Amino acid sequence: MDLHTSTWEEVEGYLERSKGIILPIGSTEQHGPNGLIGTDWICAEAISRGVGGETGALVGPTINVGMAQHHLAFAGSVTLRPTTLIAVVRDTVVSLARHGFTRFFFVNGHGGNIATVTAAFSEIYAERSMERLSNQPPIKCALRNWWDSEAIRKLQKELFPVGEGSHATASEVALTWYKYPETMNRSELTPKVAPNGGFADAEDYRRTFPDGRIGSDPSQATPEAGKRFYDTAVDDVARDYERWVTR
Ligand SMILES: [Zn+2]
Repeated sequence: MDLHTSTWEEVEGYLERSKGIILPIGSTEQHGPNGLIGTDWICAEAISRGVGGETGALVGPTINVGMAQHHLAFAGSVTLRPTTLIAVVRDTVVSLARHGFTRFFFVNGHGGNIATVTAAFSEIYAERSMERLSNQPPIKCALRNWWDSEAIRKLQKELFPVGEGSHATASEVALTWYKYPETMNRSELTPKVAPNGGFADAEDYRRTFPDGRIGSDPSQATPEAGKRFYDTAVDDVARDYERWVTR
């Protein structure tokens, strides 16, 4: 069930059977020469909708711009500064809490969001903790990175033993090509596998990783591989959501 195609009366009805909501969160940032700029939110949103279909959970609006300052030296990338993203997450949760939602399950598609979204959860809890017994009804937030599971790691090893990488990964690019097969571009990349390493600001990132990839060879991605990542992530995340939301 999707929030944007529901009526308010349907949302009231949903709240009688569940207080949980799934919130996709991603980023709008370069993903190398053949990856889509929307990769992170496309993956998070697709998997969230799959989980909604499997569990009956309501799926809220996608937060499709994240904390991506390090990608700004590449055309098309957009970032929120950490304080802005904290405010966006906080205001989204507090708005929904007003209606009676108490379990906020963020499905994340971008590693660069983790620290900031975790800080946003602390901000939300701090506000409620500073007033004694004010967390009524008690709300809880969780962040679930779609790629972070044993089953996904196993699939990465099986399909992309070399060049899965850590940015513009073969698996996330494959997943976007499964959703948007018309965008597939398997042209040879140079070097075949991108360099690894750390970075600070946007200029430093572009100097170190000139075509935008980190450690990956996404030319080996295929829509068929993307479907396997999609199916595995949906099953995994659905199981985690169901376990968490009823706790
Ligand atoms: Zn990504």
